[in-house]
Amino acid sequence: MSDLVLVLNSGSSSIKYQLLHADSGEVVASGLAEKIGEAHGGRIVHECGGRKLVHEGPIADHRDGLRQAFEMFQETGIDLTTVGVGAVGHRVVHGGEVFWEPTIVTDDVLTTIRDLSELAPLHNPANAVGIESTRELLPGIPQVAVFDTAFFHGLPDAAKTYAIDAKVAAAHGIRKYGFHGTSHQYVSEKAAEFLGRDYTELNQIVFHLGNGASASAIRGGVAVDTTMGMTPLEGLVMGTRPGDLDPGIVPHLVRVADLDLAQVEQLLNRDSGLKGLSGVNDFRELGELVEKGDAAAELAYDVYIHRLRRYLGAYLVELGSVDVIVFTAGVGENAANVRADALAGLSGLGIEVDPGRNETRTPGVRRISPEFSPVEVLVVPTNEELAIARAAHSLTA
Ligand code: ADP
Repeated sequence: MSDLVLVLNSGSSSIKYQLLHADSGEVVASGLAEKIGEAHGGRIVHECGGRKLVHEGPIADHRDGLRQAFEMFQETGIDLTTVGVGAVGHRVVHGGEVFWEPTIVTDDVLTTIRDLSELAPLHNPANAVGIESTRELLPGIPQVAVFDTAFFHGLPDAAKTYAIDAKVAAAHGIRKYGFHGTSHQYVSEKAAEFLGRDYTELNQIVFHLGNGASASAIRGGVAVDTTMGMTPLEGLVMGTRPGDLDPGIVPHLVRVADLDLAQVEQLLNRDSGLKGLSGVNDFRELGELVEKGDAAAELAYDVYIHRLRRYLGAYLVELGSVDVIVFTAGVGENAANVRADALAGLSGLGIEVDPGRNETRTPGVRRISPEFSPVEVLVVPTNEELAIARAAHSLTA
């Protein structure tokens, strides 16, 4: 079976895609369709063999988005129906209690992914539509769902249980599930490979810092805690989400600030986090504001770092000892100041960042702790597409 895999990440109004070889990781083509279902601003950017095509115009729905993207493949000489795609791998956000392994999509699987929309109303419906449309457009090619929650399936009860009425929690699937699992697993495995150490012998703390952000504690290759919860709202401060929040704030917003449920959801998903505090959600823009001495941006940065350090402390204690700390995703891979500030003043715990190494950019995995430091601090570029492609390929080859 060909190792060529089409990987799709269908969001509520976007589709990210990549056609790649699962064995070598070589990317044949990639693209992003945005503003799906919106009257204005629909746009697909498609890159293939050094060529970049841009189509602008309305994209009615996910099926239309995929159809247009497939046409752009044709324009760059690739017919997806005949080029030998061995599998399509889909990122699916929530697997609930049902899915924790990459799973070949059948009608029943698709129905269950839809049913799990109760737990992930912003994500699973789009994932399901993406899968359904691809099944129609590429009949006969196996579709594989890879779940963002999977790596955290085995969280210990004490870590995954919320201290609310146990019957209510059980009736409504309320527990910590965790997200970004594909990335946490990929970079922690890469870290072990880079160090030439056995994955199952390392205790690791991973910080995945992108627009969404999460941390995890991994003991011997098994995730024992993570910051995101039943939904991706919990934990670290993110671009537009607050992370941890006193739950009493929600009824207060309804009762005193007179917000309805939709407004509260908008506030917590889109208008909080760095954006809520500083007006910008992009970390580079935040950095520019901080440089200019903008007080709101400085506070946003300080809150962001404070939260990172709080979880670092928690996970150090949970693990008892840590061998590796990993930074990944847009902010984690690029923002040297975040890495330095998150780990500042911890040499007594064996945690240090070498300033020269931290500032030096090289592609691939790199060590930013000093030579012979007891705790290895690494920057590991994440590659969720490759992890999904490999999972899909190994299931269908
Ligand atoms: P997503 O969660 O959408 O996959 P990414 O992992 O691409 O997000 O991360 C996006 C974030 O990374 C943005 O806040 C962006 O500003 C930040 N980022 C990207 N490059 C840099 C950089 N050179 N310095 C600081 N932040 C960066």
